[in-house]
Amino acid sequence: MESSIAQDVDSFDQLDLSPVMRRALRHAGFEKPSPIQAQLIPFALDGEDVIGQARTGTGKTAAFSIPILEQLDSLEDCRDPQAIVVVPTRELADQVGREAERLARGVDTEIAVLAGGKNITRQLRQLENGVQIVVGTPGRLHDHLQRRSLRTDSVWCVVLDEADRMLDIGFRPQIERILRRCPRDRQTLLLSATLPPTVRRLAESYMSQPRVIDCSKNEMAVETIEQRYFTVAQNRKGDLLDRLLEREQPEQAIVFCRTKRGTDRLYRQLKHTHDNCGSMHGDMQQRERDRVLQSLRDRKLKILVATDVVGRGIDISTISHIINYDVPQDCDDYVHRVGRTGRMGRDGVAFTFVVPGEGEVLTSIEQRINKELKRDSIEGFEAVEPPPKPKVVEEDSEPARKRLNPMHRKVRRRL
Ligand code: ADP
Repeated sequence: MESSIAQDVDSFDQLDLSPVMRRALRHAGFEKPSPIQAQLIPFALDGEDVIGQARTGTGKTAAFSIPILEQLDSLEDCRDPQAIVVVPTRELADQVGREAERLARGVDTEIAVLAGGKNITRQLRQLENGVQIVVGTPGRLHDHLQRRSLRTDSVWCVVLDEADRMLDIGFRPQIERILRRCPRDRQTLLLSATLPPTVRRLAESYMSQPRVIDCSKNEMAVETIEQRYFTVAQNRKGDLLDRLLEREQPEQAIVFCRTKRGTDRLYRQLKHTHDNCGSMHGDMQQRERDRVLQSLRDRKLKILVATDVVGRGIDISTISHIINYDVPQDCDDYVHRVGRTGRMGRDGVAFTFVVPGEGEVLTSIEQRINKELKRDSIEGFEAVEPPPKPKVVEEDSEPARKRLNPMHRKVRRRL
């Protein structure tokens, strides 16, 4: 893998985009490319494989959608999918589909969202009628491959979005099968907040001399988001949450819990005191999850209690507060949770409740983000033993590995 140096791009005009795309970007209100867009788009337009390390909320979706849209053949020329975007959750699939539609403004483009939990008959009909871009979750995409309803012969680009998350959830076999079914000379774009060995191994096996772009350091949530923690006894977390919500008066908040049952329990407690709160976890019906998300988007919901799986990838710019009611199970989850606020440079604040004995988790989070969290307090909640003083150390970056086996690359352009 080859690390690539950032280019100095501060306008979309420098990116060699078609007039219709420039108009769509203006219409979407995008004035200048975000760092991941500035770096990824030129390589992607040149047909190269790219690994982009960037957290959610940094404009990754447009970074891979723009080069795909710019190079699509029209539906008259090709009725089979040309690009497949694989994402970890149903909500993210909808969101990516919507964003791609927005950027496709001005050009007829067929985009199908193939997410689990949704009506398969409709998806089959859509595929039968011809699509250019498919956005889906690994399970449902795999399902369509098995039914032979998803044809991959014409696919020239595969995007793996939030690759680290997909591997965490256990989607490796489905992802590998999707990749193996696509033509070998395709382009592969892999986006991930982190590059643990599992992601690197996937990249080594299925990508060809990928460019590595690292936008994670300067865009880490810590830059624009104030992050604090409270120490609190387990049985007083509910009271602390009440007091914190009262103090903060959030515009919109997501409260993260570790388990589905914990989420349900906290939601039941909260709804006695707050009219506009909702909950979301993986056991809920898809229709219900969509409804909750829409209410959040419409600002009918002020507080959402959620687990990590569904919390990830939610792009709602009005979320002002993240509250980690339970500390996240691993540090990457922390980065993702906190990434729900402060999107595209807006201010946000994140609070983490730490119970005695969880000091080490706090320390490892601080090591991961390379920053100390500020201790906060509310009257009546100071009595708990503080966790051991954390030490902040610089994270070692793993050495980049080089991969051989160059493959023929296509360079395509929409005129
Ligand atoms: P990610 O895919 O990294 O999670 P998104 O693509 O969802 O992030 O982007 C977050 C938000 O920022 C979206 O609402 C998107 O429309 C907006 N956005 C993306 N790129 C730009 C840009 N260059 N200028 C302004 N807003 C942008």
